[in-house]
Amino acid sequence: MDALSAEQIAERIWLSIAERRLRPGMRLKETELAELFGVSRAKVRQVLAILEREGLVASELNKGAFVAEPSVEEARDVFHIRRSVEQRVIERLIDRLDDDKLAVLAAHVEKERVANATNDQRAIIKLSGGFHQMLAEMSEAGFLSGLMRDLISRSSLITAAFRDSDKYNCGPDEHDEIIAHLRSGDVKAARKAMAHHLDHVEKELRLSGERDTVRSLKDALLLSE
Ligand SMILES: [Zn+2]
Repeated sequence: MDALSAEQIAERIWLSIAERRLRPGMRLKETELAELFGVSRAKVRQVLAILEREGLVASELNKGAFVAEPSVEEARDVFHIRRSVEQRVIERLIDRLDDDKLAVLAAHVEKERVANATNDQRAIIKLSGGFHQMLAEMSEAGFLSGLMRDLISRSSLITAAFRDSDKYNCGPDEHDEIIAHLRSGDVKAARKAMAHHLDHVEKELRLSGERDTVRSLKDALLLSE
């Protein structure tokens, strides 16, 4: 395990947060993480810096690092901004789409369907966010892609913190509907479908601020002895 890079460890921690095993507020002790991943504390600090930049980890002077605890207001802010950014992504994208891009999008949604059918939660989470990121990247607007990367990792944290059930629902059907409107070149309908989709994802969250109980770091990261 000592060959893991800082990025790989950050990815592992991100997944544990997205899969609701590592809960908001949970302490991320440098020494414990170094031991669990078999890496130096310097590397752990690098990992925590990556996660902090993405808004997934926060740190306080005398308390050290912990999984960020987004507030209800922050959760609403993220969806508010996503609505505007993704509307713009649709506008930018519609003139840049070609058959190749449409085929890539369709193949992506197909993977989402397989992940849903097999209830592969890890794949579902990655692919759901990946769909929105892919739209932003295909729009060839670097600024929007950068914003989306940040917004998607924050959305994963928010979903992990506030989702009611273990089901992660950014379903392939609604993604498919967006693609269908993009394919027919109907920007208005595509924008409407995206707005509806984001409303739906936000409504699935229980924005009441209640928290689950915390388990051990080792269990949360699914690391064995
Ligand atoms: Zn979605």
